[in-house]
Amino acid sequence: MQKERTLVLIKPDGVQRALIGEIVQRFEKVGLKLVAMKMMVADAKHVEEHYTLDPEWRRITGEKTIKSYKEKGLPPPSEDPLEITAVILKNLMKYMTAGPVVAMVWEGAHAVKIVRKLVGGTEPLTSDVGTIRGDYVLDSYQLSDTGKRSVRNLVHASGSVPEAENEIKHWFDKKDLIDYHLVQEQILYDVNLDGVLE
Ligand code: ADP
Repeated sequence: MQKERTLVLIKPDGVQRALIGEIVQRFEKVGLKLVAMKMMVADAKHVEEHYTLDPEWRRITGEKTIKSYKEKGLPPPSEDPLEITAVILKNLMKYMTAGPVVAMVWEGAHAVKIVRKLVGGTEPLTSDVGTIRGDYVLDSYQLSDTGKRSVRNLVHASGSVPEAENEIKHWFDKKDLIDYHLVQEQILYDVNLDGVLE
């Protein structure tokens, strides 16, 4: 479990907002270990493949959007989840290729869930205070729909362990992932806290 890994992308808006350090710091401070990191400009095909690695992503994301509109008492752009996601994907390809992104792999106990918790919900308008998306950005589905663009929410984080495994393979070669010990792991994971007192 200590070896669970997850993929995080700092999206082009996160880089442009000068938030790389702040975002990295949140994962470091919680005790996760950075095992790979690179900056790159992704191409549209790479982004499309990333979002469609999970064959259910189109349906789930469309349904999530419809639910969010209805919860706010607003009519969704369409009642067909796949119609909604076709537009989302097109806009995502533009958004995610607009500038450099930072791709990272973080490792540690419950890495996938811990990172999702720190990142917060997809729509910054309703992301919890204290999360990255809740604290550093103010976008909404409504605003992004009006502008015919993606919701700008600074980061991507894998949604499950199998998703993380596929996404890590999509962004990194196996040789780019570094196996090493972090001194603080002894304090985080050692059952007896041995070796603290002289
Ligand atoms: P998450 O990034 O929280 O896992 P999704 O996988 O559902 O969320 O969506 C991928 C990305 O697509 C989101 O982070 C966001 O940038 C964009 N997005 C999702 N739904 C919408 C929407 N209804 N309108 C605009 N952009 C959206």
